[in-house]
Amino acid sequence: MKLGTLPARQLAPVGSAFSGIDFSAPGKQLGYGHVVHSDNVHDGSVIPVPVAVISSGPGPVALLVAGTHGDEYEGQVLAHELIRELDPERLTGTVIVVPAANSPAVRGAARVSPIDAGNLNRSYPGRADGGPTEQVAALIAGELLPRADFVIDMHSGGSNSTYLPCAFIYRGPDEGLWGAKLRAARLLGLPYVMVVGPMLEPGSLSSAGDLAGIPTISTEISGAGTVDRQALGCLRRGMDALLGGLGILKDDLGAAPVADPQWLGLVPESPVTSSVAGLFEPLVDLGDTVAAGQPVARVHFIDELDRPPRLFTARTDGVVAILRRPTVVSPGSHMLHIARALDPLDP
Ligand SMILES: [Zn+2]
Repeated sequence: MKLGTLPARQLAPVGSAFSGIDFSAPGKQLGYGHVVHSDNVHDGSVIPVPVAVISSGPGPVALLVAGTHGDEYEGQVLAHELIRELDPERLTGTVIVVPAANSPAVRGAARVSPIDAGNLNRSYPGRADGGPTEQVAALIAGELLPRADFVIDMHSGGSNSTYLPCAFIYRGPDEGLWGAKLRAARLLGLPYVMVVGPMLEPGSLSSAGDLAGIPTISTEISGAGTVDRQALGCLRRGMDALLGGLGILKDDLGAAPVADPQWLGLVPESPVTSSVAGLFEPLVDLGDTVAAGQPVARVHFIDELDRPPRLFTARTDGVVAILRRPTVVSPGSHMLHIARALDPLDP
């Protein structure tokens, strides 16, 4: 079905959580989830959360989420591409795409919602009668997650940081889910796989997936509040391969074999955190291999002209995996994260 043949959407709630979506129908449907909010601007109006469902009928279901944080863009761009280009005839099963999950944050070019300061990735499982961000979490966790056999939450570094392009997977409590996550991370074929502890971020979609027993992985690619063409290309190729490997996309065209990823783990010693206010100067680049004790950053004091900069050293051997973007720091600002190299993990 061509997008142009779709009927115009009605921007009015119809008494369910969604407008324009019938989850039992095959084809391509474009609609939105309802978030209602009453303040000086919205006064009980609907804040639409765009949703697309592309389905050939029965089969596995993938839920693709972007815009969990509004200023992380590669996943959002890819989500729009997929909505336009995925055709039900190319599928065995269903792809549900949420391209702007925290839509007020996306519209406001911000990490969290400008309406209620809600961080969607700390809001799961959400509350249907809560604030706008809690309503989005309830919509995704309550209405979309249970329909899915696999979930991918596409993040980037956002305005404040840049990441090595990686699949970002929670170790989680369940061995079966862990195997499925490892297989998915390999299929995605990004240059790095970052392993983090179980429940690293309570309230995240990954944690909600673990609790619901549905394999859920994230990506973290590039950042700096912009679109990195190379990272977007990696994600585009990887998503084709992932949807093919899940048995949903029949013709995962051009999903060339990828090199084995480099496996990394975030540990408590990973962050290098400023203890002073000033100007952060990195002494290493993203992807550099460093040794514990090696100087990796210094902070210059803005007003104390005769004072040498404060030096900060790595607390672990590893690879520079996350680098802060804004130069001005205060005590407690993470300047970079050093991830430990791991042996390759197999499902
Ligand atoms: Zn994010």
